[in-house]
Order: sequence, then C-alpha cells, then structure tokens
Amino acid sequence: MLVGIKNGIRINAYILSEEDKIKIRETRITCPACKEEVILVDGIKVITHFRHKPNSNCQNSGETQEHIKMKVACYNILKK
Ligand SMILES: [Zn+2]
Repeated sequence: MLVGIKNGIRINAYILSEEDKIKIRETRITCPACKEEVILVDGIKVITHFRHKPNSNCQNSGETQEHIKMKVACYNILKK
C-alpha cells in the first residue's frame, strides 16, 4: 500500500524523501484499514510502499508491484 498512518496523519510512501524514509523507520506507521503496524519497503526494484507484517489478515495486504504501479500512475495523473 502507498499510504500509512503516522500519529493520525496520512503518509504517502511514494513521495517520501530519503531523509523522511529514515525518520519513518524510527516511528510506528499503521495501516489505514486495519490499524496494524506496517513496514516501509524501499529498494531499487520496487516502488517505495508500506507492507503488512507476515501473517496479517488485512484485506489490503499482499498488493502486487503491478497494483502499486497502477496506484502511482493514478496518483501522478490526478495530481496534475
Ligand atoms: Zn491493514
């Protein structure tokens, strides 16, 4: 998922700066749907996003990279 919640504020992983990514890893981010803690995933081959911890029962867990890419494409179109 692209959005996590930090202290009640929505955080978009896709637009985080490198500095923000470091800060985010030091804080508790939760899923907007199930309120479980999520993990920031970042790398060369993946779009920066939040992921549920293993064995999550949330319906928002397990999004594929294609799903996330589609969300980013929609985000980029709508922000214009
Ligand atoms: Zn969730």
